Amino acid sequence: MVLINENYLKLPGSYLFSEIARRVNQFKAENADADIIRLGIGDVTRPLSPAIVDAMKAAVDEMGRAESFRGYGPEQGYEFLSEKIIENDYKPLGVELNTDEVFISDGAKTDTANFPDILGVTNIIAVTDPVYPVYVDSNVMAGRTGAFNAKGQFDGIVYLPCTEENGMKPQLPTTKVDMIYLCFPNNPTGMTLTKDELKQWVDYARDNKALILFDAAYEAFIQEENIPRSIYEIEGAREVAVEFRSYSKTAGFTGTRCAYTVVPKEVKAYDSQGNAHSLNSFWLRRQTTKFNGVSYPVQAAAAAIYSEAGQKEIQANIRYYMDNATIIREGLINAGYKVFGGVNAPYIWLKTPDNVSSWDFFDTLLNQANVVGTPGAGFGASGEGYFRLTAFGTRENTEKALERIRTRM
Ligand SMILES: *Cc1c(COP(=O)(O)O)cnc(C)c1O
Repeated sequence: MVLINENYLKLPGSYLFSEIARRVNQFKAENADADIIRLGIGDVTRPLSPAIVDAMKAAVDEMGRAESFRGYGPEQGYEFLSEKIIENDYKPLGVELNTDEVFISDGAKTDTANFPDILGVTNIIAVTDPVYPVYVDSNVMAGRTGAFNAKGQFDGIVYLPCTEENGMKPQLPTTKVDMIYLCFPNNPTGMTLTKDELKQWVDYARDNKALILFDAAYEAFIQEENIPRSIYEIEGAREVAVEFRSYSKTAGFTGTRCAYTVVPKEVKAYDSQGNAHSLNSFWLRRQTTKFNGVSYPVQAAAAAIYSEAGQKEIQANIRYYMDNATIIREGLINAGYKVFGGVNAPYIWLKTPDNVSSWDFFDTLLNQANVVGTPGAGFGASGEGYFRLTAFGTRENTEKALERIRTRM
Protein backbone atom coordinates (compact mmCIF):
# COMPACT_ATOMS: atom_id res chain seq x y z
CA MET A 1 0.00 0.00 0.00
CA VAL A 2 1.47 3.31 -1.03
CA LEU A 3 1.48 5.80 1.80
CA ILE A 4 0.95 9.52 1.32
CA ASN A 5 3.18 12.24 2.78
CA GLU A 6 0.84 12.95 5.67
CA ASN A 7 2.40 16.36 6.26
CA TYR A 8 0.30 17.56 3.33
CA LEU A 9 -2.81 16.71 5.35
CA LYS A 10 -1.86 19.48 7.78
CA LEU A 11 -2.24 22.15 5.09
CA PRO A 12 -5.58 23.96 5.27
CA GLY A 13 -5.78 24.30 1.46
CA SER A 14 -4.94 27.40 -0.54
CA TYR A 15 -7.81 29.39 0.84
CA LEU A 16 -6.63 32.94 0.09
CA PHE A 17 -6.61 33.34 -3.67
CA SER A 18 -9.40 30.84 -4.32
CA GLU A 19 -11.61 32.64 -1.81
CA ILE A 20 -10.80 35.97 -3.47
CA ALA A 21 -11.69 34.49 -6.88
CA ARG A 22 -14.95 33.09 -5.48
CA ARG A 23 -16.04 36.44 -4.05
CA VAL A 24 -15.05 38.36 -7.20
CA ASN A 25 -16.90 35.90 -9.44
CA GLN A 26 -20.00 36.12 -7.31
CA PHE A 27 -19.86 39.92 -7.44
CA LYS A 28 -19.43 39.80 -11.22
CA ALA A 29 -22.40 37.49 -11.58
CA GLU A 30 -24.56 39.96 -9.67
CA ASN A 31 -23.07 43.11 -11.24
CA ALA A 32 -22.44 42.24 -14.85
CA ASP A 33 -21.23 45.67 -15.97
CA ALA A 34 -19.10 46.64 -13.00
CA ASP A 35 -15.59 47.65 -14.12
CA ILE A 36 -13.42 45.70 -11.66
CA ILE A 37 -9.86 46.87 -11.02
CA ARG A 38 -7.46 44.26 -9.63
CA LEU A 39 -4.75 45.53 -7.32
CA GLY A 40 -4.55 42.20 -5.56
CA ILE A 41 -2.19 39.59 -6.91
CA GLY A 42 1.53 40.33 -6.98
CA ASP A 43 2.04 39.93 -10.70
CA VAL A 44 3.49 42.54 -13.02
CA THR A 45 1.75 44.20 -15.99
CA ARG A 46 4.64 45.82 -17.92
CA PRO A 47 5.88 43.61 -20.80
CA LEU A 48 9.44 42.35 -21.18
CA SER A 49 11.58 45.24 -22.40
CA PRO A 50 13.10 45.34 -25.93
CA ALA A 51 16.72 44.60 -24.94
CA ILE A 52 15.55 41.47 -23.12
CA VAL A 53 13.29 40.29 -25.95
CA ASP A 54 16.05 40.86 -28.54
CA ALA A 55 18.54 38.84 -26.49
CA MET A 56 16.07 36.00 -26.05
CA LYS A 57 15.28 35.91 -29.78
CA ALA A 58 18.95 35.89 -30.69
CA ALA A 59 19.53 33.01 -28.27
CA VAL A 60 16.64 31.05 -29.77
CA ASP A 61 18.23 31.52 -33.22
CA GLU A 62 21.54 30.22 -31.84
CA MET A 63 19.72 27.14 -30.57
CA GLY A 64 18.41 26.54 -34.10
CA ARG A 65 21.83 26.37 -35.73
CA ALA A 66 24.07 23.30 -35.44
CA GLU A 67 27.22 25.35 -34.80
CA SER A 68 25.76 27.31 -31.89
CA PHE A 69 23.26 24.79 -30.52
CA ARG A 70 23.53 24.11 -26.77
CA GLY A 71 22.21 21.07 -24.94
CA TYR A 72 22.31 20.61 -21.16
CA GLY A 73 23.95 23.56 -19.51
CA PRO A 74 25.60 23.71 -16.10
CA GLU A 75 22.95 22.96 -13.43
CA GLN A 76 24.03 26.00 -11.41
CA GLY A 77 23.75 28.32 -14.43
CA TYR A 78 26.01 29.79 -17.09
CA GLU A 79 29.00 31.80 -15.96
CA PHE A 80 28.15 34.55 -18.46
CA LEU A 81 25.18 35.32 -16.21
CA SER A 82 26.68 34.70 -12.77
CA GLU A 83 29.64 36.95 -13.68
CA LYS A 84 27.24 39.77 -14.58
CA ILE A 85 25.33 39.23 -11.33
CA ILE A 86 28.49 39.54 -9.27
CA GLU A 87 29.78 42.53 -11.24
CA ASN A 88 26.51 44.49 -11.25
CA ASP A 89 24.45 43.38 -8.25
CA TYR A 90 27.16 42.81 -5.62
CA LYS A 91 30.46 44.57 -6.48
CA PRO A 92 28.91 48.04 -6.21
CA LEU A 93 27.81 47.11 -2.66
CA GLY A 94 31.34 46.09 -1.73
CA VAL A 95 30.37 42.41 -1.68
CA GLU A 96 32.86 39.98 -3.26
CA LEU A 97 31.53 36.67 -4.55
CA ASN A 98 32.78 33.83 -6.73
CA THR A 99 30.70 32.41 -9.56
CA ASP A 100 30.44 29.10 -7.67
CA GLU A 101 28.60 30.93 -4.89
CA VAL A 102 25.79 32.00 -7.26
CA PHE A 103 23.16 29.42 -8.28
CA ILE A 104 20.84 30.43 -11.13
CA SER A 105 17.36 28.94 -10.95
CA ASP A 106 13.85 29.18 -12.29
CA GLY A 107 12.50 31.14 -9.35
CA ALA A 108 12.91 32.46 -5.85
CA LYS A 109 9.71 30.64 -4.94
CA THR A 110 11.30 27.37 -6.03
CA ASP A 111 14.54 28.11 -4.20
CA THR A 112 13.06 29.35 -0.92
CA ALA A 113 10.83 26.27 -0.91
CA ASN A 114 13.59 23.82 -1.89
CA PHE A 115 16.55 25.13 0.07
CA PRO A 116 15.45 23.47 3.32
CA ASP A 117 15.92 20.10 1.51
CA ILE A 118 19.50 20.26 2.75
CA LEU A 119 18.57 21.25 6.32
CA GLY A 120 17.52 19.02 9.21
CA VAL A 121 13.83 18.33 9.77
CA THR A 122 14.06 19.04 13.49
CA ASN A 123 15.18 22.64 12.96
CA ILE A 124 12.86 25.20 14.50
CA ILE A 125 11.82 27.81 12.00
CA ALA A 126 10.92 31.43 12.59
CA VAL A 127 8.84 33.48 10.18
CA THR A 128 7.53 37.01 10.30
CA ASP A 129 3.77 37.29 10.63
CA PRO A 130 2.33 38.34 8.13
CA VAL A 131 4.47 36.31 5.74
CA TYR A 132 4.88 35.12 2.13
CA PRO A 133 3.06 31.78 2.55
CA VAL A 134 5.64 29.71 0.62
CA TYR A 135 8.11 29.67 3.54
CA VAL A 136 5.51 28.22 5.88
CA ASP A 137 3.80 25.73 3.58
CA SER A 138 7.05 24.26 2.23
CA ASN A 139 8.21 23.58 5.78
CA VAL A 140 4.86 22.01 6.65
CA MET A 141 5.29 19.67 3.66
CA ALA A 142 8.78 18.78 4.84
CA GLY A 143 7.53 17.86 8.31
CA ARG A 144 9.15 20.72 10.15
CA THR A 145 5.92 21.78 11.92
CA GLY A 146 3.07 20.42 13.98
CA ALA A 147 -0.64 20.74 13.26
CA PHE A 148 -2.61 23.77 12.07
CA ASN A 149 -4.15 25.17 15.24
CA ALA A 150 -7.20 27.17 16.24
CA LYS A 151 -5.22 30.43 16.06
CA GLY A 152 -4.69 29.76 12.36
CA GLN A 153 -1.00 29.01 12.91
CA PHE A 154 1.13 25.88 12.80
CA ASP A 155 2.35 24.40 16.05
CA GLY A 156 6.11 24.35 16.26
CA ILE A 157 6.70 27.49 14.17
CA VAL A 158 7.93 30.63 15.90
CA TYR A 159 5.89 33.52 14.51
CA LEU A 160 7.36 37.01 14.77
CA PRO A 161 4.47 39.49 14.68
CA CYS A 162 4.88 42.61 12.54
CA THR A 163 2.22 45.09 13.53
CA GLU A 164 1.54 48.79 13.88
CA GLU A 165 3.00 48.65 17.42
CA ASN A 166 6.47 47.61 16.22
CA GLY A 167 6.30 49.49 12.92
CA MET A 168 6.14 46.19 10.98
CA LYS A 169 9.63 45.25 12.19
CA PRO A 170 10.03 41.79 13.73
CA GLN A 171 11.54 41.49 17.21
CA LEU A 172 14.23 38.90 17.95
CA PRO A 173 12.74 35.57 19.07
CA THR A 174 12.66 34.89 22.80
CA THR A 175 13.06 31.14 22.30
CA LYS A 176 15.84 29.51 20.30
CA VAL A 177 15.28 29.12 16.57
CA ASP A 178 17.47 27.57 13.87
CA MET A 179 16.13 28.81 10.53
CA ILE A 180 14.94 32.39 10.14
CA TYR A 181 13.10 33.64 7.06
CA LEU A 182 13.45 37.35 6.45
CA CYS A 183 12.07 39.15 3.40
CA PHE A 184 13.00 42.83 3.07
CA PRO A 185 11.69 44.91 1.39
CA ASN A 186 8.74 42.89 2.63
CA ASN A 187 5.86 41.27 0.86
CA PRO A 188 3.12 41.94 2.04
CA THR A 189 3.88 44.96 4.30
CA GLY A 190 6.15 46.83 1.89
CA MET A 191 8.41 47.73 4.84
CA THR A 192 12.19 47.51 5.16
CA LEU A 193 14.86 47.12 7.82
CA THR A 194 17.80 49.48 8.20
CA LYS A 195 21.35 48.13 8.24
CA ASP A 196 21.45 48.39 12.04
CA GLU A 197 18.19 46.49 12.38
CA LEU A 198 19.31 43.77 10.01
CA LYS A 199 22.62 43.52 11.85
CA GLN A 200 20.75 42.42 15.00
CA TRP A 201 19.49 39.41 13.05
CA VAL A 202 22.93 38.56 11.71
CA ASP A 203 24.33 38.80 15.24
CA TYR A 204 21.52 36.59 16.57
CA ALA A 205 22.26 33.98 13.89
CA ARG A 206 25.98 34.04 14.67
CA ASP A 207 25.39 33.74 18.41
CA ASN A 208 22.93 30.85 17.97
CA LYS A 209 24.47 29.04 14.99
CA ALA A 210 21.24 29.73 13.13
CA LEU A 211 20.70 30.31 9.41
CA ILE A 212 18.98 33.33 7.84
CA LEU A 213 17.12 32.68 4.60
CA PHE A 214 17.02 36.20 3.20
CA ASP A 215 14.53 36.89 0.42
CA ALA A 216 15.62 40.01 -1.46
CA ALA A 217 13.13 39.68 -4.32
CA TYR A 218 12.23 43.38 -4.00
CA GLU A 219 15.73 44.80 -3.60
CA ALA A 220 15.49 46.69 -6.92
CA PHE A 221 12.58 48.75 -5.61
CA ILE A 222 14.57 50.36 -2.78
CA GLN A 223 14.61 54.15 -3.14
CA GLU A 224 16.04 55.35 0.18
CA GLU A 225 19.60 55.41 1.54
CA ASN A 226 20.75 53.12 4.34
CA ILE A 227 18.39 50.33 3.38
CA PRO A 228 20.48 47.20 2.75
CA ARG A 229 20.05 45.79 -0.77
CA SER A 230 21.84 42.62 0.19
CA ILE A 231 22.25 40.96 3.56
CA TYR A 232 25.95 40.64 2.74
CA GLU A 233 26.31 44.37 3.30
CA ILE A 234 26.10 43.40 6.97
CA GLU A 235 29.35 42.30 8.58
CA GLY A 236 29.40 38.58 9.35
CA ALA A 237 26.40 37.72 7.17
CA ARG A 238 28.46 35.54 4.83
CA GLU A 239 28.73 32.96 7.61
CA VAL A 240 25.03 32.77 8.46
CA ALA A 241 22.90 33.80 5.49
CA VAL A 242 21.80 32.65 2.07
CA GLU A 243 20.15 35.21 -0.20
CA PHE A 244 17.39 34.74 -2.75
CA ARG A 245 16.84 37.14 -5.63
CA SER A 246 14.56 37.08 -8.63
CA TYR A 247 14.08 38.80 -11.99
CA SER A 248 10.32 38.30 -11.67
CA LYS A 249 9.34 41.67 -10.27
CA THR A 250 12.53 43.51 -11.23
CA ALA A 251 12.42 42.74 -14.95
CA GLY A 252 8.99 41.28 -15.60
CA PHE A 253 10.15 37.64 -15.56
CA THR A 254 7.12 36.24 -13.70
CA GLY A 255 6.17 34.25 -16.81
CA THR A 256 9.73 33.83 -18.14
CA ARG A 257 11.28 32.36 -14.97
CA CYS A 258 14.77 33.25 -13.82
CA ALA A 259 16.17 33.91 -10.37
CA TYR A 260 19.29 33.18 -8.36
CA THR A 261 20.42 32.17 -4.91
CA VAL A 262 23.69 33.14 -3.28
CA VAL A 263 25.30 30.59 -0.97
CA PRO A 264 28.68 31.84 0.26
CA LYS A 265 31.28 29.15 0.99
CA GLU A 266 31.45 30.25 4.63
CA VAL A 267 27.81 29.42 5.46
CA LYS A 268 27.65 26.32 7.61
CA ALA A 269 25.12 23.97 9.13
CA TYR A 270 25.93 21.25 11.61
CA ASP A 271 25.50 17.49 11.94
CA SER A 272 24.28 15.89 15.16
CA GLN A 273 27.91 15.56 16.30
CA GLY A 274 28.32 19.30 15.95
CA ASN A 275 30.59 19.11 12.91
CA ALA A 276 30.19 21.99 10.49
CA HIS A 277 29.32 21.40 6.82
CA SER A 278 29.38 23.88 3.96
CA LEU A 279 25.89 24.61 2.69
CA ASN A 280 27.41 25.62 -0.63
CA SER A 281 28.57 22.08 -1.37
CA PHE A 282 25.30 20.58 -0.11
CA TRP A 283 23.25 22.93 -2.28
CA LEU A 284 25.43 22.15 -5.30
CA ARG A 285 24.92 18.45 -4.63
CA ARG A 286 21.18 18.95 -4.32
CA GLN A 287 20.84 21.09 -7.45
CA THR A 288 23.03 18.87 -9.65
CA THR A 289 20.81 15.93 -8.66
CA LYS A 290 17.35 17.46 -8.76
CA PHE A 291 17.65 20.38 -11.22
CA ASN A 292 18.93 20.67 -14.78
CA GLY A 293 19.34 24.39 -15.07
CA VAL A 294 17.41 27.28 -16.60
CA SER A 295 17.03 27.27 -20.39
CA TYR A 296 19.76 29.03 -22.37
CA PRO A 297 17.45 31.60 -24.05
CA VAL A 298 16.11 32.63 -20.65
CA GLN A 299 19.58 33.02 -19.12
CA ALA A 300 20.66 34.99 -22.22
CA ALA A 301 17.62 37.22 -21.73
CA ALA A 302 18.48 37.68 -18.05
CA ALA A 303 22.05 38.66 -18.95
CA ALA A 304 20.64 41.40 -21.21
CA ILE A 305 19.11 43.04 -18.13
CA TYR A 306 22.66 44.15 -17.29
CA SER A 307 23.33 45.78 -20.67
CA GLU A 308 23.13 49.56 -20.83
CA ALA A 309 19.82 49.44 -22.69
CA GLY A 310 18.47 46.70 -20.43
CA GLN A 311 19.28 48.69 -17.28
CA LYS A 312 17.62 51.81 -18.67
CA GLU A 313 14.51 49.89 -19.62
CA ILE A 314 14.04 48.02 -16.38
CA GLN A 315 14.73 51.13 -14.32
CA ALA A 316 11.94 52.86 -16.28
CA ASN A 317 9.57 50.00 -15.41
CA ILE A 318 10.53 50.12 -11.74
CA ARG A 319 9.98 53.90 -11.79
CA TYR A 320 6.54 53.29 -13.32
CA TYR A 321 5.56 50.87 -10.54
CA MET A 322 7.00 53.04 -7.79
CA ASP A 323 5.09 56.05 -9.14
CA ASN A 324 1.98 53.87 -8.86
CA ALA A 325 3.03 53.10 -5.29
CA THR A 326 3.23 56.82 -4.53
CA ILE A 327 -0.21 57.39 -6.06
CA ILE A 328 -1.68 54.63 -3.88
CA ARG A 329 0.17 55.62 -0.74
CA GLU A 330 -0.60 59.34 -0.96
CA GLY A 331 -4.14 58.73 -2.16
CA LEU A 332 -4.82 56.55 0.85
CA ILE A 333 -3.18 58.95 3.31
CA ASN A 334 -5.24 61.83 1.89
CA ALA A 335 -8.38 59.72 2.26
CA GLY A 336 -7.52 59.26 5.95
CA TYR A 337 -6.04 55.77 5.95
CA LYS A 338 -3.10 54.64 8.04
CA VAL A 339 -0.62 53.09 5.60
CA PHE A 340 2.71 51.25 5.61
CA GLY A 341 5.10 50.48 2.78
CA GLY A 342 4.98 51.83 -0.76
CA VAL A 343 8.22 53.80 -0.37
CA ASN A 344 10.85 51.09 -1.01
CA ALA A 345 8.52 48.36 -2.22
CA PRO A 346 5.63 47.96 -4.65
CA TYR A 347 3.23 47.02 -1.83
CA ILE A 348 1.03 49.23 0.29
CA TRP A 349 -0.24 47.78 3.53
CA LEU A 350 -3.17 49.69 4.95
CA LYS A 351 -4.82 49.43 8.31
CA THR A 352 -8.52 48.80 7.87
CA PRO A 353 -10.63 51.68 9.21
CA ASP A 354 -12.58 51.18 12.46
CA ASN A 355 -10.91 47.81 13.04
CA VAL A 356 -13.09 46.05 10.50
CA SER A 357 -11.83 42.60 9.59
CA SER A 358 -9.67 42.34 6.50
CA TRP A 359 -12.29 40.18 4.71
CA ASP A 360 -15.06 42.66 5.53
CA PHE A 361 -12.90 45.43 4.13
CA PHE A 362 -12.32 43.28 1.02
CA ASP A 363 -16.09 43.03 0.51
CA THR A 364 -16.71 46.74 1.06
CA LEU A 365 -13.92 47.73 -1.33
CA LEU A 366 -15.22 45.33 -3.95
CA ASN A 367 -18.85 46.41 -3.58
CA GLN A 368 -18.37 50.15 -3.30
CA ALA A 369 -15.24 50.85 -5.33
CA ASN A 370 -15.10 47.68 -7.47
CA VAL A 371 -11.44 47.33 -6.49
CA VAL A 372 -9.86 43.99 -5.59
CA GLY A 373 -7.06 43.81 -3.05
CA THR A 374 -5.73 41.14 -0.71
CA PRO A 375 -7.00 40.70 2.86
CA GLY A 376 -4.10 40.81 5.31
CA ALA A 377 -5.45 37.82 7.25
CA GLY A 378 -4.48 35.67 4.26
CA PHE A 379 -0.81 36.28 5.11
CA GLY A 380 -1.05 35.21 8.74
CA ALA A 381 -2.85 35.89 11.99
CA SER A 382 -1.10 39.24 12.54
CA GLY A 383 -2.31 40.38 9.12
CA GLU A 384 -5.86 40.58 10.43
CA GLY A 385 -7.04 44.19 10.34
CA TYR A 386 -4.75 45.02 7.43
CA PHE A 387 -5.09 44.98 3.65
CA ARG A 388 -2.59 44.84 0.77
CA LEU A 389 -2.72 46.82 -2.47
CA THR A 390 -0.06 46.36 -5.13
CA ALA A 391 1.58 48.92 -7.39
CA PHE A 392 1.87 46.45 -10.27
CA GLY A 393 -1.29 47.59 -12.05
CA THR A 394 -1.42 49.97 -14.99
CA ARG A 395 -1.21 53.73 -14.28
CA GLU A 396 -4.72 54.25 -15.58
CA ASN A 397 -6.23 51.58 -13.32
CA THR A 398 -4.22 52.71 -10.32
CA GLU A 399 -5.40 56.30 -10.68
CA LYS A 400 -8.98 55.19 -11.26
CA ALA A 401 -8.93 52.89 -8.24
CA LEU A 402 -7.69 55.64 -5.93
CA GLU A 403 -10.24 58.09 -7.26
CA ARG A 404 -12.96 55.56 -6.46
CA ILE A 405 -11.59 54.92 -2.98
CA ARG A 406 -11.63 58.68 -2.38
CA THR A 407 -15.18 59.20 -3.60
CA ARG A 408 -17.02 55.96 -2.83
CA MET A 409 -15.57 54.56 0.37
C1 LIG B 1 7.20 37.37 -6.08
C2 LIG B 1 8.05 36.90 -4.97
C3 LIG B 1 9.16 36.10 -5.21
C4 LIG B 1 9.58 35.75 -6.62
O1 LIG B 1 9.28 34.46 -6.91
P1 LIG B 1 9.68 33.86 -8.32
O2 LIG B 1 9.50 32.39 -8.10
O3 LIG B 1 11.11 34.21 -8.58
O4 LIG B 1 8.75 34.42 -9.35
C5 LIG B 1 9.92 35.69 -4.14
N1 LIG B 1 9.63 36.06 -2.89
C6 LIG B 1 8.59 36.86 -2.62
C7 LIG B 1 8.34 37.27 -1.22
C8 LIG B 1 7.76 37.29 -3.65
O5 LIG B 1 6.72 38.07 -3.36
